[in-house]
Amino acid sequence: MGLERQDLRILARAAALLAMVALETPALATAQESLPPARDARIDALVGAVSADRIEADVRSLVGFGTRHTLSDTLSPTRGIGAARRWIKAELDAVSAACGGCLEVTYQRALVAGEPRVPDSTWVVSVVAVLRGTDDPDRYVIMTGDIDSRVSDIMNAIDSSPGANDNASGMAGVLEAARVITASGHRFRASIAFAGLAGEEQGLYGGARMAEVAGQEGWRIEAVLNNDMIGNVQGVDGVIENSTARVFSESPPAGTTEAELRRMRFFGGEVDSPSRQLARYVDRIADDYLVNLDVRMIYRLDRFGRGGHHRPFNDAGFPAVRIMETHENYARQHQDVRVENGIAYGDVIEGVDFDYAATLTALNVATLASLAWAPAPPDSVAVAGAVEPAARLTWAPSPGAAGYKVYWRDTTSPTWDRWTWTGDATVATMTGLVVDNWFFGVAAVSPEGDESLVVFPAPTR
Ligand SMILES: [Zn+2]
Repeated sequence: MGLERQDLRILARAAALLAMVALETPALATAQESLPPARDARIDALVGAVSADRIEADVRSLVGFGTRHTLSDTLSPTRGIGAARRWIKAELDAVSAACGGCLEVTYQRALVAGEPRVPDSTWVVSVVAVLRGTDDPDRYVIMTGDIDSRVSDIMNAIDSSPGANDNASGMAGVLEAARVITASGHRFRASIAFAGLAGEEQGLYGGARMAEVAGQEGWRIEAVLNNDMIGNVQGVDGVIENSTARVFSESPPAGTTEAELRRMRFFGGEVDSPSRQLARYVDRIADDYLVNLDVRMIYRLDRFGRGGHHRPFNDAGFPAVRIMETHENYARQHQDVRVENGIAYGDVIEGVDFDYAATLTALNVATLASLAWAPAPPDSVAVAGAVEPAARLTWAPSPGAAGYKVYWRDTTSPTWDRWTWTGDATVATMTGLVVDNWFFGVAAVSPEGDESLVVFPAPTR
């Protein structure tokens, strides 16, 4: 069957028209249609459910144990660390009972001895509750607070040590987050763990033990939100302020090798550790879901030369940040309860602002829910484009993702300021963006608009 010259011309025109249509109906139009909502309204309800009254009741209960020093009495039903951890376990068991047994609540024990702050053989006992993920149960997002308290002498296990802000506030936040998230009836793709960690003041023992267990059991920890002091709004400098929170994160991560440092010199990444991406994520969650709270990211593991229970997770290679008040009051930390030269010392209940603690708890709840609903961060993210007009990004698909956002930012910006939606494509050519002048990242997004952490790409050709 032969075609006449005329027919061929018509066919050629039709083909050209089709090609133009294809160009004018670009893939972007299809991609925009699949763009998930910018916010997940379910998170608004979770944020609104956090109760300052319940946090106050829990802080009062914890202070009521007199002292929660790691070396204090373990047998008394009313005083000491033993009574405190049994009460926390009972609270989490009750939370679980109220949701049909949705939490797996366990003690996590470590026997410590021969240490400067734990000379005699002592069981350091944390309490961990896990809301098992539906799709990806080995992927974990974790909220932690501390059970223990201290006064001026780190070895004083006898005297009154209320630890109302340090760290009954963080512990109460963990209990309230567990209540709110489980009572919502929602279930999540990833597992959410709520932990009361023991032995913080004596040497970060509970966190070290939990990180060790996580490693042994193959937990893929995506985030640890360590809450340590979330209730003080009146600083030692006299500033009174309740509308910011600090998020501390380390970068480069612990254990960075010489080879990795050398790579950072040429390709960047020294301010883009997984913990730093987590800090940026918490900052964005505050912007998206917390009306009157701004996150102040601090680019350091912790306060100047000080420590907290996120560190052992960092040491074990897991992303972890510290969430805490912006204004500390050193007269109310690690102090014997007393009045001296007219100044009231001691970590007493009057120093805790429960509304502020509730706001920071809500920040945790929103972050946990968003991360646990989101797909896992994309794997194998890579960027190329040296001496080319456009950066090129590639990554592996993430199960459950509706699509991906490619983010970019000025190299001096602390936040991921710009993005484009790629739909379900796993490659993006960033026309007009020369790789030399920007930092890039990729996040996976659920159909409901919950985003994974942003992954900083490895250099490739
Ligand atoms: Zn402390």
